[in-house]
Amino acid sequence: MPDAPQQVVVLGGGIGGQVAATRLAQRLGTRARVRLIERAPSYTFPPSLLWLMVGDRSAPAITRDYSTLRRRGVEVMQASVEAVDTTASSVRTDQGPVPYDYLVIALGATPDRGALPGVAEYAHDPYDLASAERLRDTLARFGGGRVVVAIASLPYKCPAAPYETAMLIDGLLRRRGLRDRSEISVYTPEPLPMPVAGPYAGHSVAAELAARSIGFNPTSQIDGVEAGMLRTQRGEVPFDLAVVIPPHRPPQAIAESGLTGPAGWLAVDRQTLRTRAANVYAIGDAVAIPLENGMMLPKAGVFAHAQAEAVARNIAAQIEGSTAESMFDGHGLCFVETGDGKAGMASGDFYASPRPDVSMRRPSRAWHMGKVAFEQYWLRRWL
Ligand SMILES: Cc1cc2nc3c(=O)[nH]c(=O)nc-3n(C[C@H](O)[C@H](O)[C@H](O)COP(=O)(O)OP(=O)(O)OC[C@H]3O[C@@H](n4cnc5c(N)ncnc54)[C@H](O)[C@@H]3O)c2cc1C
Repeated sequence: MPDAPQQVVVLGGGIGGQVAATRLAQRLGTRARVRLIERAPSYTFPPSLLWLMVGDRSAPAITRDYSTLRRRGVEVMQASVEAVDTTASSVRTDQGPVPYDYLVIALGATPDRGALPGVAEYAHDPYDLASAERLRDTLARFGGGRVVVAIASLPYKCPAAPYETAMLIDGLLRRRGLRDRSEISVYTPEPLPMPVAGPYAGHSVAAELAARSIGFNPTSQIDGVEAGMLRTQRGEVPFDLAVVIPPHRPPQAIAESGLTGPAGWLAVDRQTLRTRAANVYAIGDAVAIPLENGMMLPKAGVFAHAQAEAVARNIAAQIEGSTAESMFDGHGLCFVETGDGKAGMASGDFYASPRPDVSMRRPSRAWHMGKVAFEQYWLRRWL
């Protein structure tokens, strides 16, 4: 009699979960039942939210339901994950328990607008589709004034995105003839933009901000937002339009899993993405991976994707009885939109010792086209 199919369960239908589930279904066919549990009925490709914010994309153009995944043999279950019980090899959801033989946790990081006073009431958030649409509409009516872009706390997804936000708003205001009547300033707790990528990349992004007369205020701790006022530990900053990247927290569903490390993010082996529980892997933004320079691997889709590929190969190999092991090697790249039809590009080895080895390419139209091609590849190939 043939063996019963293995129960492979993937939690979270974002970038990491989609890649892991697709690859597992492709590789294992009838040897596994691959189930993906996701609470939302559709997924909006996050990097495109910044273009949506300035009116260059619509929500339908960058949002997909899970029908492609279903056609690829993945069972998509719309449910909210409540807890992971590694002793019983079972996931608790609001639709009932789901047992697993192999588990991939890809629940992402949760931006929490309620975690800092006034953010939900007085600031826009480009990380959320509905809020990014409101920001787009507000920018379309904006007649010029003081714009602040603030990072509430660390860590946050995509180290480049707040700086791209500031430069895209700069480009929009220039096109609309409003830049002379406007001030744009960035406030961040970081000492430099994208500090994990090293001083050269950070100074390069800071120089792009300066070239556009965008104020840069590093090591600024944000205490909260009031109507027309950003409160920082160095004083109050008046604004006409505020964009705040909210605090990010680990998914609630893993809090009691026994799989977390410092600050509640999932702890994994940085190459195999194994957690401390047998047959349980974790990938993407929900994971914290310390680097040689004392910082953490950035929360970025390129890493979630590469980790998902490695984990899918490893689970498939185990089910097929092979001992071959795939490793995530810490390489990644990131485009940095500069708002004038160009983008820079940071790439390198984040696992290099004694510090990440990352290079930064100057902004060009070619890198911007690279970012558009990356978006189209994602929307057509994966979602
Ligand atoms: C504005 C913006 C721009 C970005 N630009 C880039 C870029 O240019 N390049 C890049 O590499 N990265 C970029 N990123 C970061 C990238 O989107 C994330 O790093 C990536 O999506 C992480 O993938 P993930 O699978 O770990 O998590 P996610 O893609 O966030 O997916 C997690 C999924 O889990 C689901 N989920 C969470 N909790 C539950 C639960 N309890 N039950 C059921 N489902 C749940 C969520 O609904 C979500 O679909 C950007 C992000 C933003 C916000």
